[in-house]
Amino acid sequence: MTFAELGLSPKLLEAIEAAGYTDPTPIQAGAIPPALAGRDVLGIAQTGTGKTASFTLPLIERLSRGRAKARMPRSLIIAPTRELAAQVAENFETYSKGQKLSMALLIGGVAFGPQEEILNKGADVLIATPGRLLDHFERGKLLMNGVQFLVVDEADRMLDMGFIPDLERIFNMVPPRRQVLFFSATMPKEIKSLVDRFLNNPERVEV
Ligand code: AMP
Repeated sequence: MTFAELGLSPKLLEAIEAAGYTDPTPIQAGAIPPALAGRDVLGIAQTGTGKTASFTLPLIERLSRGRAKARMPRSLIIAPTRELAAQVAENFETYSKGQKLSMALLIGGVAFGPQEEILNKGADVLIATPGRLLDHFERGKLLMNGVQFLVVDEADRMLDMGFIPDLERIFNMVPPRRQVLFFSATMPKEIKSLVDRFLNNPERVEV
């Protein structure tokens, strides 16, 4: 299986080549085709398996095919920690090089002002920790009506950190007709319950 066979466009294939990847990892080979087809995906994979690219690449592909509506964010990636969110943002920038996609990184521990300025300019993708995302929402700075793609990374760590109620709120804030890419290293019952309630007939990919 090659990246080209997964259905990714030439621009992304260039970025993948520049990153030095030759073949997709198993989670990428399993998750990218259904994600490109618009399916919800439940990915069960640990860090180190290439899971970040398995949701970032199809997200970039779907965003670059679509069109921005006003200045509302079209996609949202939720990660449990600032460090992980920053890492996902780095991956997103690497893979989306040369494409006109804008990103806002919304994490705690830094001032609201600069993040609000970026939001006001409009961002195609928000990469956020749950707390800071909800803070922006409560300050009235964030419209979620345009979100078509929702990614949840390391859901089981969010469970450990007590973020399940935040995640439930986030799922309820985005429009019901969205595509969800949901990743967890393990599937404890609380996570299974979230998946059952908020994902629509997901393709399950376990590595
Ligand atoms: P992750 O599991 O997303 O944290 O990725 C682990 C590491 O694997 C990162 O350093 C990626 O840059 C790298 N990686 C991701 N996909 C591939 C691939 N297809 N081939 C080689 N390395 C990869």
